Amino acid sequence: MSDAIAASASTNAALMARRATAVPRGVGQAHHVFIDRAENAEIWDVEGRRYIDFAGGIAVLNTGHRNPDVIAAVQAQLERYTHTCFQVVAYEPYVALAEKLNAMAPGDFAKKTLLLSTGAEAVENAVKIARAYTKRSAVIAFGSGYHGRTMFTLGLTGKVAPYKTGFGPFPGEIFHARFPNERAGVTVDDAIASIEALFKNDVEADRVAAIIIEPVQGEGGFNVAPPELLRRLRALCDANGILLIADEVQTGAGRTGTFFAIEHAGVAPDLVTLAKSLAGGFPLSAVVGRAEVMDAPGPGGLGGTYAGSPLGCAAALAVIETFERDKLLQRSRDVGELLTQGLRDMASRRAQIADVRGLGAMVAVELVDAQGAPDADLTRRIVAEACRRGLILLSCGTYGNVLRILVPLTASDELLREGLSIIDASFDAVA
Ligand code: PMP
Repeated sequence: MSDAIAASASTNAALMARRATAVPRGVGQAHHVFIDRAENAEIWDVEGRRYIDFAGGIAVLNTGHRNPDVIAAVQAQLERYTHTCFQVVAYEPYVALAEKLNAMAPGDFAKKTLLLSTGAEAVENAVKIARAYTKRSAVIAFGSGYHGRTMFTLGLTGKVAPYKTGFGPFPGEIFHARFPNERAGVTVDDAIASIEALFKNDVEADRVAAIIIEPVQGEGGFNVAPPELLRRLRALCDANGILLIADEVQTGAGRTGTFFAIEHAGVAPDLVTLAKSLAGGFPLSAVVGRAEVMDAPGPGGLGGTYAGSPLGCAAALAVIETFERDKLLQRSRDVGELLTQGLRDMASRRAQIADVRGLGAMVAVELVDAQGAPDADLTRRIVAEACRRGLILLSCGTYGNVLRILVPLTASDELLREGLSIIDASFDAVA
């Protein structure tokens, strides 16, 4: 425990009491844990208790907590300059990272990259760029999708509670299509038909600037977009002069076994957003896209004071190097394999697990009650029990009944197995 924390309060409970009086209610919290330090895939709280981190800071830590290469790169950058705004003077890490991402993003065409700070900001800017290029205003997103907490991205977000509750009205010109869901009987045909119905009844196709989709819905419950849907969206966009935006804030930076999840479907979006694990724990986001689309906004129309922070760029360059050197894309597939097998084994023994799904190391289980209905209460109890047993887990999904795993890809097999056994034991304790 650090001395400062030791001096100010001695327990999680005391710090939580201070948190309650100092921090607004709207800032939720999944666990009654006050962190002291972290290393790779483990966290220690202020009382010295150890936790395995299956949440990864919500998908931010693909390369682990305090990755030594990321720390070294940021330290080297700290020695030169910590901040300048790209709108004032240009700097090497921004340009170098843009060149890297342009080369890595799917699509056999010239690309450009805009750097920002948060995922929501990347989505907002992707829409701004799409509007500037197409000179159209409408955007189609998907039910149960999630795109951020700013006003426009909340408008795009399908799930209402708690994100949108009390914050409306939201910007107009946003329409929602159906996302396929095999278990609920919603097919790819249904999803495409829902877009055609929007064109017919709500917004003419030639008013639509962009369709935005998460290749795997994150907050919505780790719902994998079938490759056929992504291919048909590409064709539908091409036929109607609409841009396809892949929101890879949660799926990108190697989480699913390819650097961009949409690569699994062999589809090149016009614009793709990245954030979270891109900079290994530093706030940085990106929009990568077709050069002529990215160049559509007028001079000075894009940016922000902290957009593309030099520290974030240095961290992201180290993250990409680490992925290449340590073959982390392969590791992502292997982690996914190990977790999926372990969870399938659990599902075969437990009727409460109705589905095991995901892509690469983005893996989740859906929990149901004896009648087969979504069981958010059981999910909450498993999350709390796992935490008591030393595992940080998160839930997600429209009904809050999905346990999701976003563990650092740098975690050892042994640690992954230990985490799985805690989930298994938590079912026993709670059932
Ligand atoms: N898009 C997706 C797909 C996300 O998962 C998230 C964050 N969960 C966001 C956008 C928003 O990112 P941020 O919280 O960094 O604004």
